[in-house]
Amino acid sequence: MGTAALAAASMLPGCASSPKKLKDELPLKISFQEGIAPGENLGEKLDFMESIGVVGFEPGGRGLKGRVKEIQDALSGRNITVSAICAGFDGFILAEDPAVKNLFDTTMREIVEAAGELGSTGVIMVPAFNSQKPCMPHNQETRDYLCEELHKLGEFAKSCGTTVILEPLNRAEAFYMRLVADAAAIARDADSEGVKAMGDFWHMKEETCDYGAFMSAGKKYLQHVHIASKGDRKMPGEHPEVDNYVAGFKALKEIGYDKFVSFECGCGGDRATLVTAAVDLLNAQWAEA
Ligand code: MG
Repeated sequence: MGTAALAAASMLPGCASSPKKLKDELPLKISFQEGIAPGENLGEKLDFMESIGVVGFEPGGRGLKGRVKEIQDALSGRNITVSAICAGFDGFILAEDPAVKNLFDTTMREIVEAAGELGSTGVIMVPAFNSQKPCMPHNQETRDYLCEELHKLGEFAKSCGTTVILEPLNRAEAFYMRLVADAAAIARDADSEGVKAMGDFWHMKEETCDYGAFMSAGKKYLQHVHIASKGDRKMPGEHPEVDNYVAGFKALKEIGYDKFVSFECGCGGDRATLVTAAVDLLNAQWAEA
């Protein structure tokens, strides 16, 4: 075809990239935390991950500064990049004790810097677990304070080329932040591109709907997803009667989510078998969504 014919053809229905086509082409980017794949060392684990098409690696944040070179070397030449960094800091952001808050500020910023060096999507954090005391009271002043502190932290993360990612849990673990929409709203009010939110299919039991939860955050705020069996937080698929992620995946596709879905879970049997079956299951459900 000549140039004019090509230009005309590109305007015909079905020739241009329609939203439906883009949705169907969006890949599921699976990531593993360090303990998920079988293997004696990081190299063996990454070999296994590559062999089943896993493209993300989520290390823990503790000691990350001293591991940057090790992780960079291990990932060199592989089709795997660092996804998010899972917490690993000391103290907590809503601590009443200034020394504990200061410990959070210092250790969190050290992890954020390392995360930036590794090209990570962000460092996961919870503002306060129920067990962390003394904690600032759950009121409007505390929420305002949290947003101000997150703004500063988010701008720092942005300057490092990464983000901080708020992880909502459920009321039994962290009453302060329980829903994906709430985490996204706090990220919005923190008013920094360096503050984002995530959803964890295991913790999302208080959500009325996985689809609605992810849609409420949208592409602007949703930066990471954790996944586990909804039955007992072991490998996805170990409880087929409840391990259905299609509604959540449908939302991820519709918002054009291009970050990672990362395994944070235990394992109830032979690891290599269950991990492989879980990846197959998620790929099938992604295709169905
Ligand atoms: Mg999680």
